[in-house]
Amino acid sequence: MRSWKKFRTSLREWKMVTKVLLFQNHPMLVHIIPMRRCNLSCTYCNEFDDHSEPVPVEKINRWIDRLADLGTSIVTISGGEPLMHPELESVIARIRQRKMISGLITNGYLLSRKRIGSLNDSGLEHLQISIDNVEPDETSMKSLKVLDKKLRYLAELADFKVNINSVLGSGVKNPEDALVIGRRAVELGFTCTVGLIHDGAGALKPLAGREREIFLELRDLGKKGYARGNKYFQDNLVNGKSNGWRCRAGARYLYLCEDGLVHYCSQQRGYPGIPLEDYGLEDIKREYLTDKPCSPTCTISCVHHASIVDFWRSPQILKAFQPDLPPGPSSKPVPMDDLLQLE
Ligand code: SF4
Ligand code: SF4
Repeated sequence: MRSWKKFRTSLREWKMVTKVLLFQNHPMLVHIIPMRRCNLSCTYCNEFDDHSEPVPVEKINRWIDRLADLGTSIVTISGGEPLMHPELESVIARIRQRKMISGLITNGYLLSRKRIGSLNDSGLEHLQISIDNVEPDETSMKSLKVLDKKLRYLAELADFKVNINSVLGSGVKNPEDALVIGRRAVELGFTCTVGLIHDGAGALKPLAGREREIFLELRDLGKKGYARGNKYFQDNLVNGKSNGWRCRAGARYLYLCEDGLVHYCSQQRGYPGIPLEDYGLEDIKREYLTDKPCSPTCTISCVHHASIVDFWRSPQILKAFQPDLPPGPSSKPVPMDDLLQLE
């Protein structure tokens, strides 16, 4: 039964890919934020607070209906920490009722056997946990040591796909941790991905020596995952080079904040900053072609994925994969949770 559900999700994904290849003017992926509050406080994160209330479910349902009307393929619930939302499961069920693929990005702390059962019942299809280190430290408590029990529950009970993301690059104290996390993910039957991070000034720091070896090993470990679709972007970033590509944020990818405003992504909030109920085909067409100056050194993999589907399409004003471009003027560090988010 669990295998059948995952197989059915794969079939729906292929249908989604066919749709985005055939039709240009709809979002492939939307991240929604029904809960800005988080139960953790990772020091690198600029995407949470410690006090906000959950967005009322009636309001979220209106978002979901609007996204379905825009032809959206995948809705991924992010945060803050979405498991803190008291009606999360009904939000997921609504996404499924409107025939969209449902995803969830969580820090995993609130997962229990019972909660995994209710996520199964809601129709969840994808879940991603980003794990930053093996032992908790002053930067992050998203640690394998703390979360391993939750991962075992997921391996035993989840009938949705699970991806574990680890990170490499500037500010990561023990690069070997990423390998330990990736191997554990595969051992438990999950896919694994690795995210790359800038240094604090937004500069690309090439991976060298052992870090580079770890990256290559992790890439092989996770090679079956859809997340490998951004291999070319990551290879350039690992080599300290920028990417020439056209970011389709605002068209193929939308970031919908807790106030119901559409933004390019978590790191470019305020652009275009239009309420979802007013967002339509003309906005999608405009943003599809808008140049984003932050694109050369962007590490937000979910937007790479949502943009790569149009690399073949005309008109294609792309400078794709010319890695000698200078870093973008508004490049800035990206929180680890954003580095390789669920498709
Ligand atoms: S990175 Fe995730 S878990 Fe950490 S504070 Fe931000 S939202 Fe919470
Ligand atoms: S940061 Fe990345 S995803 Fe966001 S608008 Fe810039 S290029 Fe696009």
